[in-house]
Amino acid sequence: MATSDFSPPTKKVKYNFLETIVVLVGQDKTAFTVHKDIICERSPFFRAACAARWQDSDAERDVKLIDDDPEVFTLYLQCVYRESATVDLAEAKVEVATKHNVDECPESDAVFAILAEAYILADKLGDTRSCNLIIDEYISCSDQLGCIPTTVDIMPVYENTPSGSPLRALTVDYYLFEAPLSTVVKTAATLPAAFLSEFIIADANLKNPSKGETVEDVYGKVVSEMAQCCYHKHDDDNPSITCGVNQQKSEKSPSLRERQATATVSGLAAAAVVSD
Ligand SMILES: [Zn+2]
Repeated sequence: MATSDFSPPTKKVKYNFLETIVVLVGQDKTAFTVHKDIICERSPFFRAACAARWQDSDAERDVKLIDDDPEVFTLYLQCVYRESATVDLAEAKVEVATKHNVDECPESDAVFAILAEAYILADKLGDTRSCNLIIDEYISCSDQLGCIPTTVDIMPVYENTPSGSPLRALTVDYYLFEAPLSTVVKTAATLPAAFLSEFIIADANLKNPSKGETVEDVYGKVVSEMAQCCYHKHDDDNPSITCGVNQQKSEKSPSLRERQATATVSGLAAAAVVSD
């Protein structure tokens, strides 16, 4: 949904905490009551929805997000109200296992799944600030768990985000910098074609470093050490200066640093051809 379709945000000096709207989420229409001023300031989708409803006194004023998940909307509201996308690991495991009707779900898959869904929702709602918070949490969780997204985590990202999405770029970079080539070769047949295409192009670009960097310098990076805003979106309402100045950068496992050096574009290109 193009942000330009909506009116610009109204920066209020003072919120009206008495005016709320009801958002019905999911097939069961779970009802969330949220402060209109707060959510409209963050989301052009809600600004447009409220403007249309408030103009027509006969219109039903509840906003419906029937195709979305109440748990994911809850995480989105954490971003809006608390500036935090922190995921409860235990809850996420249960939620994702229940949703996919399996007995157990690995922690990493649960976290990556719920964060990807939250990112897709925030992006749909036009909430750039929340998208950036969720990206930061995705990187932080990858660090904490020592895991990178696998095919099951990447598939929904490529099914629900447009070309050029920062979340796509993040998953590609995990494979560029932190996956051994053998992992890419083994999973190439199951990874989305668009992912492999973007991987090959990004890898080829890495082979032509600029600004005095050597190939070894470039491949020596890990995702969590990239510039903080590398995977953010910024606009007039969300300039990079508003990004957290104290983002935690935890130490990567040395094994991840060692493994990334094995990736080569010729190897991946060969794998992609074989998978065809
Ligand atoms: Zn940023």
